[in-house]
Amino acid sequence: MRVLAVHADLIVMISRFWQTTSTAVRAGEEGFVIDSPVYPDELEAVVGVLDQAGFPVSGLLATHADWDHLLGRIAFPEASLGVGDSTALRLAAEPGQAQRELREFDEDHYVDDRGPLMLAGIQSLPVPGRLALGAGDLELELHPAEGHTADGTAYLIPWLKVLVCGDYLSPVEIPWISPDGSVEKYLATLERLRPLVANAQTIVPGHGRPLDRDTATRVLDEDVAYLEALRTAGAEAPLPAGRRTGAQRRIHAENVQRASTLPPT
Ligand SMILES: [Zn+2]
Repeated sequence: MRVLAVHADLIVMISRFWQTTSTAVRAGEEGFVIDSPVYPDELEAVVGVLDQAGFPVSGLLATHADWDHLLGRIAFPEASLGVGDSTALRLAAEPGQAQRELREFDEDHYVDDRGPLMLAGIQSLPVPGRLALGAGDLELELHPAEGHTADGTAYLIPWLKVLVCGDYLSPVEIPWISPDGSVEKYLATLERLRPLVANAQTIVPGHGRPLDRDTATRVLDEDVAYLEALRTAGAEAPLPAGRRTGAQRRIHAENVQRASTLPPT
């Protein structure tokens, strides 16, 4: 796991698996951890890293209900877990799904030292909305971010100029339309993120290193171009430069299937 101190009050941890990011933000005596790394040793390390850095953990947040972003409770079993209302609905509609997919991952990768993932008592947060943090008047902003999946929340940390957007704007992964995702909603989310990116200094995608504003804007434009080509050219749509690996071609093949079920525009 890579640990990046982006700011005195912001630490980004990047998992060895899929470069999944976990972001810790501190505001005085309070702190939140958004999303999670994947492997058990990484989850254990998060506890030590934040303790050493003097980052309190008053609660956990997640950008969406995909299992790889939901593992914070393994590191902090007592912590509250807040998610956007669309994610709370999805979790309620598919009980046990994250645990099943986690078990599959662990079996595939010979992981046999993981504690249980408890997802009871999740707190549903209104999106769009705000979440107060710290003793002062600091607030996280919650913005809807659907399209990759049916659910999704982007967290803006205005006083640090940081945007934690979930599975969008990744420098290592092309836009991925899940079975319950939507190309249209994905494009709408990108346009909703555009002004947030323009005002941010650091953008933390769900997978890959944090980006500066210019790089995130470039990724955003590339992703819009890719999705528009996906709608018109299907399988022939060119993948964004720098993201043309075998793994991304497999995601592209899935996207082609999903896009082809849409009526022509
Ligand atoms: Zn993800």
